[in-house]
Amino acid sequence: MNVPFRPRRALAVTAAAALGIACLPLAACSSDAGGSDSSQALSVAASFYPIQYLAQAVGGEHVNVTSVTPTNVEPHDYELAPKDVTALSGTDLVVYVPGFQPSLDDALSEVSGPDVLDLTDAVELTHHDGVEHDHDDARKDAHDDSHDDSHNHDGDVDAHGDHADEADADHAEEHDADAADPHFWLDPVRMQSAAQAIETALSQADPNHADDYQANLSSLTETLEGLDSDYSTGLAQCERTTFVTSHAAFGYLADRYGLTQASVSGVDPESEPSPAELAAVKKIVQETGTTTIFTEDLVSSKTADALAAETGATTAVLNPLESAPSSGDYADAMSANLQELRTALSCQ
Ligand SMILES: [Zn+2]
Repeated sequence: MNVPFRPRRALAVTAAAALGIACLPLAACSSDAGGSDSSQALSVAASFYPIQYLAQAVGGEHVNVTSVTPTNVEPHDYELAPKDVTALSGTDLVVYVPGFQPSLDDALSEVSGPDVLDLTDAVELTHHDGVEHDHDDARKDAHDDSHDDSHNHDGDVDAHGDHADEADADHAEEHDADAADPHFWLDPVRMQSAAQAIETALSQADPNHADDYQANLSSLTETLEGLDSDYSTGLAQCERTTFVTSHAAFGYLADRYGLTQASVSGVDPESEPSPAELAAVKKIVQETGTTTIFTEDLVSSKTADALAAETGATTAVLNPLESAPSSGDYADAMSANLQELRTALSCQ
C-alpha cells in the first residue's frame, strides 16, 4: 500500500483483447474508426463526485468516467451493492481515498481487475478534530496544549473545531491512518495535486494519449489556481473568521485560508451531536458573533435549524461537494461557496 499507483496489467492490451480488436496501439484503431471510439476509452471508476470531476477533466474524450457513489447520495458510509462491485471489477482504473467509504475499501480488497490509484499521499491527508468517531479519545490523544501556541485562529473551538496546524501535521503519523480527514477536495490546492496524480496514472495506462492528458491537466490546473486565488483574495479581510457547518467537511479549506471551522455533527454527517457538543457549538456561535449556521443539501438541517433559532442566526447552504452539484460543476459550486462564506463572515 506504500506505492500509490499499482499497475496490475497492461491496460491497453487487455482491453483490446477483450473486445477482439486486433489492432494496437489504441491510436491506430481510433484513426480507422474516424475519431474517438468509446469502446476503446479507458474505463475509470471514481469513488465519488470530486474525483469524478478530476478524472473527467484530465481524461477528456479518452476516458469513460463513472462515480461509484450515485448522484445525490451521501458518500460517507455508502454501501456498495453487489452490482457495484461487479461494475468495479470491470473497470480499468479506480481512483479513491481509503478511509472515507469503508464499503469501497472492502470491495477493492476483493476485486483484482482494475488498477487502483489511492490519492492519500498525493493530497497529503492530515487530521482534524471531529474526524474520529469517538470525540473524547480524539481530544485526549491528538491535541495537547503545546499545540495551541501556534494557532492563528480566533477564539476557542469545540470538539468538532479545527485545531489543525503545523504541529498536528508533524504528528499525523502517530495517529491511525483511518482517522485522517478525507475532505481534501474542498481545498483547491490539494485538488491540483490529485489532478496531477490522476494525469500520471492515465498517462501510464494509456501512453498514446499522454500529450492530451498533460494538456487537459494544464487547463484544469489553471481553473483550480484561479479558485485558490479567488479564495485567498476573497477571504483576506473579514469581520469574523469562524464559520459553523453541518458536518466537518471544511477543515482543509479552513486551514488553507486562515479560517476556523466549527461543526454541528463532526466529520460523519449522520452522527448526532451530544448535548455537550451542541452546547459547545452554541457557545462558539455566541462568542464569535456568528450570524450564519451552514447546512447542506444531503443532510437533515434539523439540528442546525434549532441552533440558528436559539442563537438568532440565519441558515445558508454551504456545499461540501460530496455529490455532483445540481447545476454547474465543481468550480461553479466552489465559487458559490466562496460567496456564501464571504457573506457569512462579512468579508470586504
Ligand atoms: Zn463529509
